[in-house]
Amino acid sequence: MKLASYHVHTVFCDGNNEPEDMVRAAIGLGMSDIGFSAHAAWPFSSEWHLPAHRYGDYLAEIARLKAAYADKIRVLSGFEADWLAGVTAPDSAFYGRFAPDYLIGSVHFVPTDVAGRNAPPWAVDAPVDECKRGLVECFDGDGERAVKAYYRAVRAMVSSCDFDIVGHLDLPRKRNGALKFFDETAAWYRAELAETVRAIAQTGKIVELNTGAISRKAMDDIYPSDELLALLYRADVPVTLDSDSHSTGDLACAYDRARQAARDAGYDSFRHLEGDRWVAHPF
Ligand SMILES: [Zn+2]
Ligand SMILES: [Zn+2]
Repeated sequence: MKLASYHVHTVFCDGNNEPEDMVRAAIGLGMSDIGFSAHAAWPFSSEWHLPAHRYGDYLAEIARLKAAYADKIRVLSGFEADWLAGVTAPDSAFYGRFAPDYLIGSVHFVPTDVAGRNAPPWAVDAPVDECKRGLVECFDGDGERAVKAYYRAVRAMVSSCDFDIVGHLDLPRKRNGALKFFDETAAWYRAELAETVRAIAQTGKIVELNTGAISRKAMDDIYPSDELLALLYRADVPVTLDSDSHSTGDLACAYDRARQAARDAGYDSFRHLEGDRWVAHPF
């Protein structure tokens, strides 16, 4: 069994530790691979993104760690790249110049579905009050409209960009416990999931099991839900296991639980990056 996380944040974006601290913690856990995935919205940034002027420093530090720890662990460079139509995308057109080992594509921002409305996009996983404000400003508080717009964005990203891993696929669940803005058992929601799974399956992209909501105490569950994971398995979509870690203590948070969820859905392997191919390893 290989132990890895390809979804790791550091002080270069909104994480709490230096990359070297994360590498040492990963070695302590017996990990075979650690992949860094700074929040990126090239060529833009926010207070939680890698600043545009620090891409060189980020990549140089990962290259240094890759060499320094080569006999103990494989260190990889990636980005968790945002999708915002017409602005930034997890695609080689934006990130090719940085030659990362891989890209995670994530939707954190969803623009309003009202033509001509001047509102900042809904920040899907923002703190509860900010998430709620965006739902009102962008979607008149209508959770169904908001969640449908989120999955439309995910499908557009998946179908039009050449990245590797789909980040925290059912992210709107993160604030649904507090805000209860949609019903996960509703027919329209299940239809969105099914359509999104079809779109992903057509591209061969990997979906991550992401335990970040558990370590950050935002939701006592992994992404994707059991129901979504079963749909992904039936559609033959490959998966990997990531912690979305922001601290050394979270590098393999709830991995046993995630493996069990994957097993219950039917999976017996996770993908791991070898050279430029994602190879299945039994867990
Ligand atoms: Zn994210
Ligand atoms: Zn992340």
